Amino acid sequence: MITAGNCLMFNFLTHTFQQSNLLFSCFLYKPYSTRLVSASNTIKSHQQTPHRITIRHLNSYFFSKPRRINISTMAIPASDELLGTFIPIAVYWIYSGIYALLGGLESYRLHSKADEDVKNIVSKATVFRGVLVQQAFQIAVSLLLFTMISDGSGIAKPQPSFYIIIAQFLVAMFVLDTWQYFIHRYMHINKFLYKHVHSKHHTLVVPYAFGALYNHPLEGLLLDTVGGALSFLLSGMTPRTGIFFFSFATIKTVDDHCGLWLPGNPLHALFSNNSAYHDVHHQLYGTKYNFSQPFFVMWDKILGTYMPYSLEKRKEGGFEARPIKRKN
Ligand SMILES: [Zn+2]
Ligand SMILES: [Zn+2]
Repeated sequence: MITAGNCLMFNFLTHTFQQSNLLFSCFLYKPYSTRLVSASNTIKSHQQTPHRITIRHLNSYFFSKPRRINISTMAIPASDELLGTFIPIAVYWIYSGIYALLGGLESYRLHSKADEDVKNIVSKATVFRGVLVQQAFQIAVSLLLFTMISDGSGIAKPQPSFYIIIAQFLVAMFVLDTWQYFIHRYMHINKFLYKHVHSKHHTLVVPYAFGALYNHPLEGLLLDTVGGALSFLLSGMTPRTGIFFFSFATIKTVDDHCGLWLPGNPLHALFSNNSAYHDVHHQLYGTKYNFSQPFFVMWDKILGTYMPYSLEKRKEGGFEARPIKRKN
């Protein structure tokens, strides 16, 4: 027997099936809750005049034409959470791959290739494996974080206005810089942590792009992954903004370790914290200076750990970041 309740359930299930397919197009239906409440109101009103209720009436309600809505609120098959986890890793290898191809440009290197071979005691294969381990941790924590904050609906959160996104970017940059400065500096002060954890990153005396994330897993987890999670949570950005923020932070970190001073690099024009600045920190004389990373140099300047340097041309070609002796 067809009752109003059965009819509602049938339509609901049929509609659910249809909607799950339609999510892949640029349409969304009115929310179910709204429809069910309205439909039940319709039934109530018709209960007072039962001769006027028809199945066609309910059908027309549930199968009305879909409304086109703002694309920013639509569900997408590849979720922002997954993209935010994997795109920065793809960006890491693509961007550092480009630098690997440019690495032979002696006239733009901050150290000679011969210097790199002598001073770096760890092989590139070991660095490659170490970075993959670090990224595996990064993926696990990122997916865990996104699972914890997800509302389970699978529908992307609406994006705030452009100005709010810029503000969130700036807050996230500040949070990440602050977290990394103090943890990084403490890893140099605490002899145990330096010897057993942070010294691994410093085995690359002559940094190169894909060595940017060559760290002890504990350092990677604490400095980069927890720092990234804090900047994401405290800035209040959506997972979609997170895709861009973490990709940008990845590009910046790779660029700071690229070991090249290429003309026209926009990141060098925008940030004082760049490949030459971070190269000073990787040298033996610089391990007590230039802790700031990855964006600004403010904490070094405020707390007196900024080492001024000049960029000199080397006789054999390329450049060298030379510290400027302080007067006092
Ligand atoms: Zn360091
Ligand atoms: Zn470094």
